[in-house]
Amino acid sequence: MMIEGAGTTTHCPYCALQCGMRLAGTPGRVSVEGDGAFPVNQGALCIKGWTSAELLDHPDRLRQPLARDVTGELLPVGWDEAFGRIAAAFRQAQERHGNDAVGLFTGGSLTNEKAYLAGKFARVVLRTSSIDYNGRFCMSSAAAANIRAFGLDRGLPFPVADIAGADVILLVGSNSAETMPPLMRYFELQRERGGTLIVVDPRRSLTAQAATLHLRLVPGSDATLANGLLHLLIREGFIDTDYITDRTEGFARAKAAAASYWPEHVERVTGVPEAQLIQAARMLGAARSAMVLTARGPEQQARGVDTVLAYINIALALGQVGKPSGGYGSITGQGNGQGGREHGQKADQLPGYRRIDDPAARAHVAGVWGVPEASIPGPGRSAYELLDTLGRDDGVRALLVMGSNPVVSAPNAVHITARLRSLDFLAVADFFLSETAQLADVVLPAAQWAEESGTTTNLEGRVILRRRAFDPPPGVRTDIEILRGIATALGAGSHIPPDERAVFEELRRASAGGPADYAGISYEKIERQQGVFWPCPDDAHPGTPRLFGESFPRPGGRAKFHAVRAVGAAEEPDVEFPLYLTTGRVLAQYLSGTQTRRVARLDELAPRPQAEMHPATARRYGLADGAPVRLVTRRGDATFALKVETSIREDTVFAPFHWGGAQSVNRLTNPALDPISRMPEFKVCAVRAEVIHG
Ligand code: SF4
Repeated sequence: MMIEGAGTTTHCPYCALQCGMRLAGTPGRVSVEGDGAFPVNQGALCIKGWTSAELLDHPDRLRQPLARDVTGELLPVGWDEAFGRIAAAFRQAQERHGNDAVGLFTGGSLTNEKAYLAGKFARVVLRTSSIDYNGRFCMSSAAAANIRAFGLDRGLPFPVADIAGADVILLVGSNSAETMPPLMRYFELQRERGGTLIVVDPRRSLTAQAATLHLRLVPGSDATLANGLLHLLIREGFIDTDYITDRTEGFARAKAAAASYWPEHVERVTGVPEAQLIQAARMLGAARSAMVLTARGPEQQARGVDTVLAYINIALALGQVGKPSGGYGSITGQGNGQGGREHGQKADQLPGYRRIDDPAARAHVAGVWGVPEASIPGPGRSAYELLDTLGRDDGVRALLVMGSNPVVSAPNAVHITARLRSLDFLAVADFFLSETAQLADVVLPAAQWAEESGTTTNLEGRVILRRRAFDPPPGVRTDIEILRGIATALGAGSHIPPDERAVFEELRRASAGGPADYAGISYEKIERQQGVFWPCPDDAHPGTPRLFGESFPRPGGRAKFHAVRAVGAAEEPDVEFPLYLTTGRVLAQYLSGTQTRRVARLDELAPRPQAEMHPATARRYGLADGAPVRLVTRRGDATFALKVETSIREDTVFAPFHWGGAQSVNRLTNPALDPISRMPEFKVCAVRAEVIHG
């Protein structure tokens, strides 16, 4: 039912821009408009936001729990039976194989309340260390690099409006024009002010087409490019020696590491002409305000942390971090990719961005949870490692998936699907029967974003409130109700607060004093201020839109340079697999496509995945535009329609990752993991193309 009044002000369910929107009407006849009062999108929405309400009454919607009968068919059951089956399977797995044999795999689109509760549910109700989430596949490399360099990870340590004020922006591996179009307004304003935009991308993407200078590098060579730019900035005398002396440490080692990255060498490795390298360095060096932004391009690599650190070195050497419209930021992707990595659904983390192996953090959180500190498990396995060991003797035997579709979104998807099939028991909570839910023993129908309230934290670190506009359909429950139902069936329901507001109040206490301190944030303050930037340690505190102005939360208050050795991709092309494969998103689809592939208008725009290939490469393979093409890597094969594109390098094929089955590009991707962040190398592997006959 519609909440009375002129509609409900809330936020988009999809990406990390979290555009403000208003919903009016009733499910089936919902009108959506952008919220002009919300400062981030100022009324603008992309096509995904405009069409988001179409899913509320979609015929595919799950409306009652399902469970497998003796023949293996998924049939409707009541909630009590569904919870009972899950509790029995969890108990059996833990009795036979120990507490860690039950696991949770969650998602970066869950609200802060759900992310917090999932972490608590795992550690307190199940007493398992086996929890991680798909945000590991998204933001973990930038997060680890931010903590190493600055002592704190907030993707953008400044509001998005600062983008418009930057003289020069180096934008690395982001296609914001397709992934979050309203963000481009800030880049357009920057250009209108006379600013310069440098885009680094193997493709001349829509975003690269808006750039002053496009550096079309070889996939996986991002760290070499960054070291090469640092080399030139030092050589040409553009570095800020006062800033380096006063506010940083480690520059001498970073300088020594960059010394061998001569432009000729960098051109050879990256494919970016020396003249363009020098042009980019001079643009950055001459700017009063310079901003370096990275996204998944350099981050989703097996050396993603080092690669991000190499770009942070540039921002530090220019003396820009902490200055107005300058510095470094990472553009978060998933809807709650920021808040989702702060409150404990990550294997090594407790709420407030605390480490689970920190005795003081454990004691604080144990106090809030009312449990002995010793009962909180230690760090668990990272996302891919958790999935990789499913069904094994030392791995998870019974799994709950919530807000994620790893059959489509995990790398090396054929193998991961086999691991999911090998589980003793799988439960999935989702809106639709996703590819992962199709493998489940029990499926739980979950409420959608407009049917529940909760906070998310957008790409700026601004905590915002999504408001409930409609009741969930009969038979559907919220994720909080689902976790409480399972906990109750396990005899531990008292640990789960009754609703989202009570969960948030507990989250505030659990995060108090931590790096991501939400103690002073309330639903009311969020409404009054159009969001509150963390840290916000007490009720009187207004929040912190900009970080690092005076000092860094590191020993001595200094940021740290890192000496980076660029090692390239884990898998380079060879005779058998002669091309690079890189992956990404398209405007009309989102993540694994469980939602957006069901929206008619989005499906019309992007009905199937297209593999982009340069005309010269397509000719070599005898492939024509629109023809079916099979891409093959060491891990599997997948089928696409060919899109012949001059915008891509001749040595590279691009394919989007929103589809499942034989069209899933993650059947091809390489699960080589970053040694620090455990990020898989989604962005580069070796591939060959085959003609499909007949
Ligand atoms: Fe939604 Fe992102 Fe599009 Fe805004 S840019 S409408 S948040 S998908």
